[in-house]
Amino acid sequence: MIKNNMKGILEELPEGVELVGAAKTRTPDEILECVEAGLKIIGENYVQEAERAFQVVGDKAKWHMIGHLQSNKAKKAVKIFDMIETVDSIKLAKVIDKSCANIGKVMTVLIEINSGEEIQKAGVLPEDAVSLVRDISELKNIKIMGLMTMGPFAGDPENARPYFQKTKKLFEEIKKIDLPGVEMEYLSMGMSNSYKVALEEGANMVRIGTKIFGERQYD
Ligand SMILES: *Cc1c(COP(=O)(O)O)cnc(C)c1O
Repeated sequence: MIKNNMKGILEELPEGVELVGAAKTRTPDEILECVEAGLKIIGENYVQEAERAFQVVGDKAKWHMIGHLQSNKAKKAVKIFDMIETVDSIKLAKVIDKSCANIGKVMTVLIEINSGEEIQKAGVLPEDAVSLVRDISELKNIKIMGLMTMGPFAGDPENARPYFQKTKKLFEEIKKIDLPGVEMEYLSMGMSNSYKVALEEGANMVRIGTKIFGERQYD
């Protein structure tokens, strides 16, 4: 089933769009099956799950952190991940920068935007994004490569459209600013139920879990 799902999605995605397979709760073997079916980027929400899967899959794929990164996990995270999509504060960026400096690595990151401006949700508020990008651009071991957003959860994907539009607008605005260490290339938006709308609104990176692996079982 995973193989067929992967094939369907890879055929359907327009050229130039990166697929991140959102792998939370999946076993390392399921993840490996996806990679063998053509998945190039694995998205993990938890460092511990990523470590477990990494032992099986290793560098057969790229690894993206798509969940909130706790500062005390940064040291482990920078060893595994090729990109951290969820940087939303200078405090977190500084911790990542320091951990990277220790191992001689430059981490590519996306800035997570709280496009729904929801209290308690991860992400920087849209109005604070430009100044955050400016602050982070001064860190030597971090390279900003774009924006990521979740958008508010809503049944109808049409409800997410205005938030995707808002994030795309911000992406273009930041792209115009010339800063060292910033190269706006990726706009990560859209999940299983919303990626079609996200693509229409300019996403070039989509994070898909359920549509690849099937419904998640939480126990
Ligand atoms: C789980 C998750 C996804 C994918 O969700 P699906 O609805 O299973 O496609 C995308 N992005 C993030 C940050 C996630 O945690």
